[in-house]
Amino acid sequence: MANILIVDDSRTSRKILRKILEEAGHTILGEAVNGEDGYLKYQELKPDVVTLDITMPKMDGLEALRLIKKYDEKAIAIMITAAGQKEKMILAIKSGAADFISKPYEGSDVLWVIDKCVNA
Ligand SMILES: [Mg+2]
Repeated sequence: MANILIVDDSRTSRKILRKILEEAGHTILGEAVNGEDGYLKYQELKPDVVTLDITMPKMDGLEALRLIKKYDEKAIAIMITAAGQKEKMILAIKSGAADFISKPYEGSDVLWVIDKCVNA
């Protein structure tokens, strides 16, 4: 089981993700509402995994990913993407994202990707 930081500007998305992960036995160390907040909380909480929504105000998930990977090259970052974000997904993989989860997703998809990345 992993200690996870959720970074998403949508309160509803954070709530759904938290529920899926906690019900599977993962621990949510914290939540952040934009990329900047996520970067700061990553340093503070040192999670095993960070989920990064791509589209967020102030600082998006891609920028946060780059900062987090610069801070911790071993960081396991999983991008949460919406339809039509293929280019950003490619950029994220190039910037070191471990994987991505496309919205809308099933709980089982999320758990599978997390387990795969943690045990890689
Ligand atoms: Mg968003």
